[in-house]
Amino acid sequence: MRTHLLKLLALVVAAAFAAPLFAQQPSAAPKPEDTEVYEPVPPVVTPGATNEAPPSDAIVLFDGKNLDEWVSAQDHSPAPWLVHDGVMTVSKAPGSGNIETKRKFTNYQLHVEWRIPESITGSGQARGNSGVFLASTGPGDAGYELQVLDNYNNKTYTNGQAGSIYKQAVPLANPNRKPGEWQTYDIAWTAPVFNADGSLKSPAFVTVFFNGILVQNHFELWGETRYIGKPFYKKFDSAPIKLQAHGDKSEPISFRNIWVRELK
Ligand code: MG
Repeated sequence: MRTHLLKLLALVVAAAFAAPLFAQQPSAAPKPEDTEVYEPVPPVVTPGATNEAPPSDAIVLFDGKNLDEWVSAQDHSPAPWLVHDGVMTVSKAPGSGNIETKRKFTNYQLHVEWRIPESITGSGQARGNSGVFLASTGPGDAGYELQVLDNYNNKTYTNGQAGSIYKQAVPLANPNRKPGEWQTYDIAWTAPVFNADGSLKSPAFVTVFFNGILVQNHFELWGETRYIGKPFYKKFDSAPIKLQAHGDKSEPISFRNIWVRELK
């Protein structure tokens, strides 16, 4: 009799523990609809005729006709570079220097095409040196440079070759075309964000496709790209995009088909 009572007690206790477990089971099997999202709806963007052509929501920064979107980075006077045959070329005139966009940007997608002249001379960093500064934070600041250089057959420090984030990130590949051929950069830039006191809230990130090849994959920048010394961040808000006139003696490099899509 006592054994029966113990067994009954055990059953009651087991049932008491098991009941909540059964109660936690979902009442119905999950459906595909449970994980479907309908809002927000992505905006319609009409692509260009080719992947290089500006899509419908792009701001065209250079379409081969004029430098209306650009100014001298030094004093904001009219951009001193040369426009010819649908391209813009770094000016070798004394006093001519970097140019930057009149507009300021924060986060964006950027398309740039550039060409090292076929007749390029020099070696190392002095062979077709230019740069796309993803944020031009002022004439006295280093800014954030994606290097432009002829590295088709030209050795230099690898964190300073074409496709590098200058002195911070070695490109993941070397897809340089020969001098004289056009090359493309397709860039996704996430600007750094700063607190009111100037401290860094979130760093900059960059992804770069060089001639369609991934060379920077969501790289987290260490700060401005400095020629000498360790990088550090310095507070800025939105900033122009700048193109570098490096001042080398050989034939200067050219750009064409530059457009940008602002991102939230
Ligand atoms: Mg450079």
